[in-house]
Amino acid sequence: MDFAVRFTNTVSVISRWFPGVDSLEAAGAAQEELHARANQALRDHFGRRVFVRAVVEVSNFCRENCHYCGMRRDNRGLARRREDPEVLAELLIRNRPLSITDVNIQAGEDPVAVRGVVLPLVRILRRETNLGISVCLGTLSQELSSELQEAGASTYIVKFELADAARYEALEGPGTLEERVTYIRWLADQGWNVSSGFIAGLPGEGIPSMLQNLKLAGALPLIGCSVSPFVSGAETPLGHAPQASIDLTLNCMAALRLMRPDWVVPAVSALNLSAPQGGYLRGLLAGANLCTINITPEAMREDYVIYKRDRFIMTEERVLEAIDSAGMEPSMTSLASHFAARRCAATLQEAAPAGRG
Ligand code: SF4
Repeated sequence: MDFAVRFTNTVSVISRWFPGVDSLEAAGAAQEELHARANQALRDHFGRRVFVRAVVEVSNFCRENCHYCGMRRDNRGLARRREDPEVLAELLIRNRPLSITDVNIQAGEDPVAVRGVVLPLVRILRRETNLGISVCLGTLSQELSSELQEAGASTYIVKFELADAARYEALEGPGTLEERVTYIRWLADQGWNVSSGFIAGLPGEGIPSMLQNLKLAGALPLIGCSVSPFVSGAETPLGHAPQASIDLTLNCMAALRLMRPDWVVPAVSALNLSAPQGGYLRGLLAGANLCTINITPEAMREDYVIYKRDRFIMTEERVLEAIDSAGMEPSMTSLASHFAARRCAATLQEAAPAGRG
Protein backbone atom coordinates (compact mmCIF):
# COMPACT_ATOMS: atom_id res chain seq x y z
CA MET A 1 0.00 0.00 0.00
CA ASP A 2 1.48 3.39 -0.91
CA PHE A 3 2.07 5.93 1.78
CA ALA A 4 -0.72 8.34 0.74
CA VAL A 5 -3.37 5.62 0.99
CA ARG A 6 -1.95 4.26 4.24
CA PHE A 7 -1.87 7.74 5.77
CA THR A 8 -5.41 8.60 4.71
CA ASN A 9 -6.68 5.36 6.25
CA THR A 10 -4.79 6.10 9.44
CA VAL A 11 -6.24 9.60 9.71
CA SER A 12 -9.75 8.25 9.34
CA VAL A 13 -9.08 5.72 12.10
CA ILE A 14 -7.79 8.46 14.40
CA SER A 15 -10.79 10.68 13.59
CA ARG A 16 -13.07 7.84 14.69
CA TRP A 17 -11.17 7.59 17.96
CA PHE A 18 -11.63 11.23 18.84
CA PRO A 19 -14.24 12.83 16.64
CA GLY A 20 -13.99 16.59 16.29
CA VAL A 21 -10.27 16.69 16.96
CA ASP A 22 -8.46 16.08 13.73
CA SER A 23 -4.89 17.01 14.47
CA LEU A 24 -2.17 15.95 16.85
CA GLU A 25 -0.80 19.46 16.29
CA ALA A 26 -3.65 20.97 18.32
CA ALA A 27 -2.51 24.14 20.09
CA GLY A 28 -4.12 26.84 22.24
CA ALA A 29 -7.86 26.40 22.74
CA ALA A 30 -8.01 23.29 20.52
CA GLN A 31 -5.31 21.64 22.64
CA GLU A 32 -7.09 22.58 25.86
CA GLU A 33 -10.24 20.99 24.50
CA LEU A 34 -8.38 17.83 23.47
CA HIS A 35 -6.78 17.46 26.90
CA ALA A 36 -10.03 18.23 28.72
CA ARG A 37 -11.79 15.50 26.72
CA ALA A 38 -9.02 13.04 27.54
CA ASN A 39 -9.17 13.97 31.20
CA GLN A 40 -12.93 13.49 31.24
CA ALA A 41 -12.60 10.08 29.54
CA LEU A 42 -10.10 9.08 32.23
CA ARG A 43 -12.36 10.25 35.07
CA ASP A 44 -15.40 8.52 33.58
CA HIS A 45 -13.48 5.25 33.65
CA PHE A 46 -11.17 5.47 36.67
CA GLY A 47 -12.58 8.33 38.76
CA ARG A 48 -9.87 10.35 40.54
CA ARG A 49 -7.61 7.35 41.15
CA VAL A 50 -4.00 7.34 39.95
CA PHE A 51 -1.84 4.25 40.30
CA VAL A 52 1.47 4.81 42.06
CA ARG A 53 4.37 2.41 41.60
CA ALA A 54 8.08 2.41 42.30
CA VAL A 55 10.75 1.70 39.72
CA VAL A 56 14.09 0.09 40.45
CA GLU A 57 16.69 0.09 37.70
CA VAL A 58 18.77 -3.02 38.24
CA SER A 59 21.31 -3.20 35.40
CA ASN A 60 22.61 -0.74 32.81
CA PHE A 61 24.26 -3.41 30.66
CA CYS A 62 22.53 -3.62 27.29
CA ARG A 63 23.18 -5.81 24.26
CA GLU A 64 21.22 -3.45 21.99
CA ASN A 65 22.40 -0.30 20.26
CA CYS A 66 19.39 2.03 19.89
CA HIS A 67 20.46 5.40 18.50
CA TYR A 68 18.14 7.26 20.88
CA CYS A 69 19.44 5.76 24.12
CA GLY A 70 22.58 6.45 26.14
CA MET A 71 22.70 2.88 27.44
CA ARG A 72 23.40 1.49 23.95
CA ARG A 73 26.23 -1.06 23.89
CA ASP A 74 28.55 1.21 21.87
CA ASN A 75 28.59 3.83 24.60
CA ARG A 76 31.93 3.11 26.26
CA GLY A 77 31.63 6.06 28.64
CA LEU A 78 29.26 4.33 31.04
CA ALA A 79 30.24 2.57 34.24
CA ARG A 80 28.21 -0.62 33.77
CA ARG A 81 26.89 -2.38 36.84
CA ARG A 82 24.30 -4.78 38.15
CA GLU A 83 22.58 -4.35 41.50
CA ASP A 84 22.54 -6.84 44.35
CA PRO A 85 19.05 -8.42 44.65
CA GLU A 86 19.33 -8.70 48.45
CA VAL A 87 19.99 -4.95 48.78
CA LEU A 88 17.05 -4.12 46.53
CA ALA A 89 14.79 -6.55 48.39
CA GLU A 90 15.69 -4.92 51.69
CA LEU A 91 14.89 -1.50 50.23
CA LEU A 92 11.53 -2.67 48.91
CA ILE A 93 10.51 -4.66 51.96
CA ARG A 94 11.58 -2.24 54.70
CA ASN A 95 12.07 1.21 53.16
CA ARG A 96 9.65 1.57 50.30
CA PRO A 97 7.53 4.71 49.87
CA LEU A 98 4.19 4.19 51.63
CA SER A 99 2.16 5.34 48.64
CA ILE A 100 3.27 2.58 46.23
CA THR A 101 1.19 -0.49 45.45
CA ASP A 102 3.40 -1.95 42.70
CA VAL A 103 7.02 -2.10 41.65
CA ASN A 104 8.49 -2.07 38.16
CA ILE A 105 11.86 -3.79 37.77
CA GLN A 106 13.71 -2.34 34.82
CA ALA A 107 17.05 -2.97 33.09
CA GLY A 108 18.79 -2.67 29.75
CA GLU A 109 18.45 -5.80 27.61
CA ASP A 110 20.63 -7.97 29.84
CA PRO A 111 19.60 -11.63 30.27
CA VAL A 112 22.48 -12.11 32.75
CA ALA A 113 20.84 -9.60 35.10
CA VAL A 114 17.44 -11.25 34.59
CA ARG A 115 18.79 -14.53 35.90
CA GLY A 116 21.13 -13.13 38.55
CA VAL A 117 19.19 -10.13 39.86
CA VAL A 118 15.59 -9.95 38.65
CA LEU A 119 14.47 -13.55 39.22
CA PRO A 120 15.78 -13.73 42.80
CA LEU A 121 14.31 -10.29 43.54
CA VAL A 122 10.87 -11.22 42.16
CA ARG A 123 10.86 -14.44 44.22
CA ILE A 124 11.70 -12.57 47.44
CA LEU A 125 9.14 -9.84 46.80
CA ARG A 126 6.43 -12.37 46.00
CA ARG A 127 7.16 -14.18 49.26
CA GLU A 128 7.54 -11.12 51.49
CA THR A 129 5.17 -8.45 50.10
CA ASN A 130 1.85 -8.03 48.32
CA LEU A 131 3.28 -5.57 45.80
CA GLY A 132 2.18 -6.01 42.20
CA ILE A 133 5.28 -6.78 40.13
CA SER A 134 5.98 -5.60 36.61
CA VAL A 135 9.15 -6.00 34.58
CA CYS A 136 10.65 -4.01 31.73
CA LEU A 137 13.57 -6.07 30.44
CA GLY A 138 13.41 -6.15 26.64
CA THR A 139 12.87 -9.20 24.47
CA LEU A 140 13.83 -12.35 26.38
CA SER A 141 13.69 -16.05 25.56
CA GLN A 142 10.36 -17.77 26.15
CA GLU A 143 11.99 -19.86 28.87
CA LEU A 144 13.23 -16.84 30.82
CA SER A 145 9.95 -14.96 30.40
CA SER A 146 8.03 -17.98 31.74
CA GLU A 147 10.36 -18.23 34.73
CA LEU A 148 9.62 -14.61 35.57
CA GLN A 149 5.90 -15.25 35.37
CA GLU A 150 6.16 -18.35 37.55
CA ALA A 151 8.22 -16.37 40.07
CA GLY A 152 5.36 -13.89 40.50
CA ALA A 153 5.66 -11.05 37.96
CA SER A 154 2.37 -10.38 36.18
CA THR A 155 2.89 -7.31 33.99
CA TYR A 156 5.44 -7.01 31.19
CA ILE A 157 6.34 -3.64 29.72
CA VAL A 158 7.88 -3.90 26.27
CA LYS A 159 7.87 -0.78 24.14
CA PHE A 160 7.61 -1.01 20.38
CA GLU A 161 9.37 2.40 20.25
CA LEU A 162 8.25 3.37 16.71
CA ALA A 163 5.88 1.79 14.23
CA ASP A 164 7.82 2.43 11.03
CA ALA A 165 9.84 -0.75 10.39
CA ALA A 166 12.40 0.93 8.08
CA ARG A 167 13.08 3.78 10.55
CA TYR A 168 13.19 1.23 13.37
CA GLU A 169 15.95 -0.61 11.55
CA ALA A 170 17.82 2.60 10.67
CA LEU A 171 17.78 3.65 14.33
CA GLU A 172 18.87 0.13 15.40
CA GLY A 173 15.82 -0.42 17.59
CA PRO A 174 15.99 -3.64 19.66
CA GLY A 175 15.92 -6.65 17.28
CA THR A 176 13.37 -5.95 14.55
CA LEU A 177 9.97 -4.34 14.85
CA GLU A 178 8.38 -7.60 13.74
CA GLU A 179 10.17 -9.53 16.51
CA ARG A 180 9.06 -6.95 19.04
CA VAL A 181 5.42 -7.13 17.98
CA THR A 182 5.51 -10.93 17.88
CA TYR A 183 6.94 -10.96 21.41
CA ILE A 184 4.18 -8.62 22.65
CA ARG A 185 1.52 -10.92 21.19
CA TRP A 186 3.23 -14.02 22.62
CA LEU A 187 3.40 -12.48 26.11
CA ALA A 188 -0.31 -11.61 25.99
CA ASP A 189 -1.11 -15.18 24.90
CA GLN A 190 0.79 -16.46 27.94
CA GLY A 191 -1.44 -14.45 30.27
CA TRP A 192 0.86 -11.49 30.94
CA ASN A 193 -0.66 -8.02 31.28
CA VAL A 194 1.32 -6.33 28.53
CA SER A 195 2.00 -2.62 28.34
CA SER A 196 3.91 -0.99 25.51
CA GLY A 197 5.05 2.47 24.49
CA PHE A 198 6.46 4.68 21.78
CA ILE A 199 8.68 7.71 21.43
CA ALA A 200 7.18 11.01 20.25
CA GLY A 201 9.14 13.37 18.03
CA LEU A 202 12.15 11.30 16.99
CA PRO A 203 14.19 13.20 14.37
CA GLY A 204 12.45 13.05 11.00
CA GLU A 205 9.16 11.84 12.52
CA GLY A 206 6.12 14.07 12.19
CA ILE A 207 2.38 13.67 12.54
CA PRO A 208 2.04 10.75 10.07
CA SER A 209 4.56 8.77 12.15
CA MET A 210 2.66 9.53 15.35
CA LEU A 211 -0.56 8.35 13.73
CA GLN A 212 1.19 5.16 12.71
CA ASN A 213 2.34 4.70 16.32
CA LEU A 214 -1.17 5.19 17.65
CA LYS A 215 -2.57 2.81 15.11
CA LEU A 216 -0.09 0.08 16.00
CA ALA A 217 -0.70 0.57 19.72
CA GLY A 218 -4.45 0.21 19.10
CA ALA A 219 -3.93 -3.03 17.20
CA LEU A 220 -1.90 -4.76 19.94
CA PRO A 221 -3.24 -6.81 22.89
CA LEU A 222 -2.25 -4.24 25.53
CA ILE A 223 -3.47 -3.05 28.90
CA GLY A 224 -1.61 0.24 28.63
CA CYS A 225 0.81 2.31 26.62
CA SER A 226 3.26 5.14 27.27
CA VAL A 227 4.42 8.05 25.16
CA SER A 228 7.92 9.36 25.90
CA PRO A 229 9.19 12.58 24.36
CA PHE A 230 12.41 12.14 22.40
CA VAL A 231 15.24 13.60 24.50
CA SER A 232 18.60 13.95 22.75
CA GLY A 233 21.26 12.33 24.90
CA ALA A 234 24.82 13.67 24.49
CA GLU A 235 26.27 10.15 24.37
CA THR A 236 24.17 8.99 21.42
CA PRO A 237 24.29 9.36 17.61
CA LEU A 238 21.25 11.66 17.92
CA GLY A 239 22.96 13.92 20.46
CA HIS A 240 22.61 17.03 18.28
CA ALA A 241 19.03 16.44 17.20
CA PRO A 242 16.29 18.75 18.50
CA GLN A 243 14.20 17.55 21.43
CA ALA A 244 10.58 16.53 20.91
CA SER A 245 7.87 19.09 21.46
CA ILE A 246 6.07 18.62 24.76
CA ASP A 247 2.83 19.54 23.01
CA LEU A 248 3.14 16.75 20.47
CA THR A 249 3.88 14.30 23.28
CA LEU A 250 0.93 15.42 25.38
CA ASN A 251 -1.41 15.38 22.38
CA CYS A 252 -0.37 11.79 21.66
CA MET A 253 -1.08 10.90 25.30
CA ALA A 254 -4.51 12.50 25.08
CA ALA A 255 -5.19 10.60 21.85
CA LEU A 256 -4.24 7.33 23.56
CA ARG A 257 -6.61 8.04 26.41
CA LEU A 258 -9.48 8.84 24.05
CA MET A 259 -8.70 5.75 22.03
CA ARG A 260 -8.65 3.48 25.08
CA PRO A 261 -10.28 4.95 28.22
CA ASP A 262 -9.56 1.66 30.03
CA TRP A 263 -5.78 1.71 29.50
CA VAL A 264 -3.13 2.58 32.02
CA VAL A 265 -1.13 5.48 30.59
CA PRO A 266 1.91 6.58 32.59
CA ALA A 267 3.11 10.13 33.14
CA VAL A 268 6.82 9.70 32.33
CA SER A 269 9.54 11.64 34.13
CA ALA A 270 10.93 12.87 30.78
CA LEU A 271 7.89 15.15 30.50
CA ASN A 272 9.73 17.31 33.02
CA LEU A 273 12.86 17.27 30.84
CA SER A 274 10.82 18.53 27.89
CA ALA A 275 9.01 21.11 30.01
CA PRO A 276 10.71 21.65 33.39
CA GLN A 277 7.84 23.90 34.50
CA GLY A 278 5.10 21.36 35.05
CA GLY A 279 5.43 18.93 32.12
CA TYR A 280 4.63 16.00 34.41
CA LEU A 281 1.52 17.68 35.80
CA ARG A 282 0.35 18.46 32.26
CA GLY A 283 0.66 14.72 31.53
CA LEU A 284 -1.72 13.93 34.40
CA LEU A 285 -4.15 16.52 33.03
CA ALA A 286 -3.96 15.04 29.52
CA GLY A 287 -5.10 11.55 30.47
CA ALA A 288 -2.23 9.85 32.34
CA ASN A 289 -3.15 7.68 35.34
CA LEU A 290 0.09 6.13 36.52
CA CYS A 291 2.92 7.80 38.45
CA THR A 292 6.31 6.29 39.13
CA ILE A 293 8.58 6.99 42.10
CA ASN A 294 12.22 6.29 41.32
CA ILE A 295 13.93 4.42 44.16
CA THR A 296 16.99 3.23 42.23
CA PRO A 297 20.11 3.36 44.41
CA GLU A 298 22.20 6.49 43.74
CA ALA A 299 25.24 4.77 42.18
CA MET A 300 23.14 3.12 39.46
CA ARG A 301 21.06 6.23 38.75
CA GLU A 302 24.04 8.23 37.53
CA ASP A 303 24.83 5.77 34.76
CA TYR A 304 21.29 4.75 33.87
CA VAL A 305 21.06 7.15 30.95
CA ILE A 306 17.96 6.20 28.96
CA TYR A 307 17.42 9.93 28.37
CA LYS A 308 20.48 11.94 29.39
CA ARG A 309 22.75 12.26 32.40
CA ASP A 310 20.86 15.20 33.81
CA ARG A 311 17.76 13.23 34.78
CA PHE A 312 14.61 14.48 36.46
CA ILE A 313 14.10 12.09 39.36
CA MET A 314 10.51 11.73 40.53
CA THR A 315 10.62 11.37 44.30
CA GLU A 316 7.56 10.45 46.38
CA GLU A 317 7.16 14.10 47.38
CA ARG A 318 7.15 15.32 43.76
CA VAL A 319 4.74 12.59 42.66
CA LEU A 320 2.25 13.23 45.47
CA GLU A 321 2.42 16.99 44.85
CA ALA A 322 1.67 16.49 41.13
CA ILE A 323 -1.25 14.13 41.92
CA ASP A 324 -2.70 16.64 44.36
CA SER A 325 -2.28 19.54 41.91
CA ALA A 326 -4.13 17.51 39.27
CA GLY A 327 -7.06 17.04 41.68
CA MET A 328 -6.45 13.30 41.81
CA GLU A 329 -5.60 10.80 44.54
CA PRO A 330 -3.33 7.74 44.85
CA SER A 331 -5.09 4.43 44.24
CA MET A 332 -5.26 2.02 47.15
CA THR A 333 -5.68 -0.84 44.65
CA SER A 334 -2.55 -2.13 42.96
CA LEU A 335 -2.22 -2.30 39.20
CA ALA A 336 -1.83 -6.06 39.52
CA SER A 337 -5.12 -6.39 41.45
CA HIS A 338 -6.87 -4.04 39.02
CA PHE A 339 -5.82 -6.16 36.04
CA ALA A 340 -6.65 -9.42 37.86
CA ALA A 341 -10.15 -8.13 38.66
CA ARG A 342 -10.63 -7.04 35.05
CA ARG A 343 -9.53 -10.42 33.76
CA CYS A 344 -11.91 -12.14 36.16
CA ALA A 345 -14.83 -9.92 35.08
CA ALA A 346 -14.07 -10.63 31.41
CA THR A 347 -14.02 -14.38 32.05
CA LEU A 348 -17.35 -14.21 33.88
CA GLN A 349 -18.85 -12.18 31.05
CA GLU A 350 -17.67 -14.70 28.48
CA ALA A 351 -19.14 -17.55 30.51
CA ALA A 352 -22.49 -15.81 31.14
CA PRO A 353 -24.41 -16.71 27.93
CA ALA A 354 -23.51 -20.41 28.28
CA GLY A 355 -24.59 -20.33 31.93
CA ARG A 356 -28.00 -18.85 31.06
CA GLY A 357 -28.61 -21.64 28.46
S1 SF4 B 1 16.40 1.65 24.61
FE1 SF4 B 1 16.51 -0.24 25.82
S2 SF4 B 1 17.23 -1.78 24.38
FE2 SF4 B 1 17.71 0.21 23.45
S3 SF4 B 1 19.82 0.65 24.09
FE3 SF4 B 1 18.45 1.61 25.59
S4 SF4 B 1 18.23 0.12 27.24
FE4 SF4 B 1 19.06 -0.95 25.43
